[in-house]
Amino acid sequence: QNIIGIETSCDETGVALYNADRGLVGDLVYTQADHAAYGGVVPELASRDHVRKLPGMIRELLDRAEMTARDLDAVAYTAGPGLAGALLVGASTSVALAAALDVPAIAVHHMEGHLLSPLLEDPAPDFPFVALLVSGGHTMLVAVEGFGRYRLLGETLDDAAGEAFDKTARLLGLGYPGGPEVARLAETGDPDRFDFPRPMTNRPGLDFSFSGLKTHTRELVARVAPEDHADVAAGFEQAVAETLAIKCKRALKETRMQRLVIAGGVSANTRLRAELERRLSGRVYYPSLKLCTDNGAMIAHAGWYRRAEANRDGMIAVRPRWPIDSLAG
Ligand code: ATP
Ligand code: MG
Ligand code: FE
Repeated sequence: QNIIGIETSCDETGVALYNADRGLVGDLVYTQADHAAYGGVVPELASRDHVRKLPGMIRELLDRAEMTARDLDAVAYTAGPGLAGALLVGASTSVALAAALDVPAIAVHHMEGHLLSPLLEDPAPDFPFVALLVSGGHTMLVAVEGFGRYRLLGETLDDAAGEAFDKTARLLGLGYPGGPEVARLAETGDPDRFDFPRPMTNRPGLDFSFSGLKTHTRELVARVAPEDHADVAAGFEQAVAETLAIKCKRALKETRMQRLVIAGGVSANTRLRAELERRLSGRVYYPSLKLCTDNGAMIAHAGWYRRAEANRDGMIAVRPRWPIDSLAG
């Protein structure tokens, strides 16, 4: 069983091959560069870039794996959540490819792709676990009883963690995406020099709020010198990492679960990983670094889990908004 996974929900074009016996047999990601000049993703540019890149990437993926399209048994694609126009490029390409090959297509939920991505690693976590999904558009804690059995424990009331990194990067005059840039600058900074809040940690509950942290950073940046920026970046990063880690620990306690899985772009952050190890050592599972941000591998892999929903109805339907707890097992 060879499943191709196609990801176009935002500004990464991802294609990958997952084989039921051999695991991942190919994985290509193209990160669109045009958005950097705007400091954020421009939907129209994203759609156009996916159209330009996707066909050639599918060909290259198959060539490198020494396969042809005839070797594919199913086409999995991201049907949502994400940018409507960008999703439509992947969905229409995938449904057309599946129809031409006379194989089924599988609509995959992008966040379920992130959520299941640590299962591609060795050792893979067993169910049940708590998942912290931290990306550009989401910050959620999910109780995962098993495949398709997801209960939302908490989420952000305003900005996502990745969004907070992106906005902080802009305040510091750094590029987009901001997470890796803030992390790089923070390496030389002192995280304790400036005080940062740990939003919503001193009251019960598992929701998050990162917009206050961003405002705090803006006011701080306005009154410090440029040579202090590394300390600002480190303090901000430490505040996000600790805030997330405190809530993760609380979620494990409340659910009485033993394992934590983290996924999504921000799960690549080393300070966050260190903070989680410090508080929950040996109980945390991550995707490998290149599977943290958007990719086709997690879509092919989730498509394998969702193979019972494969269909040949030719419907090109995307769901730009799609709550993860509406999925069934
Ligand atoms: P979503 O998955 O919610 O639809 P998305 O797909 O755009 O959003 P991802 O590709 O999963 O998000 O993650 C991108 C986000 O991760 C960006 O906000 C980026 O700044 C952040 N990010 C990437 N690497 C790091 C890092 N090392 N530290 C902190 N943040 C990071
Ligand atoms: Mg992205
Ligand atoms: Fe994502």
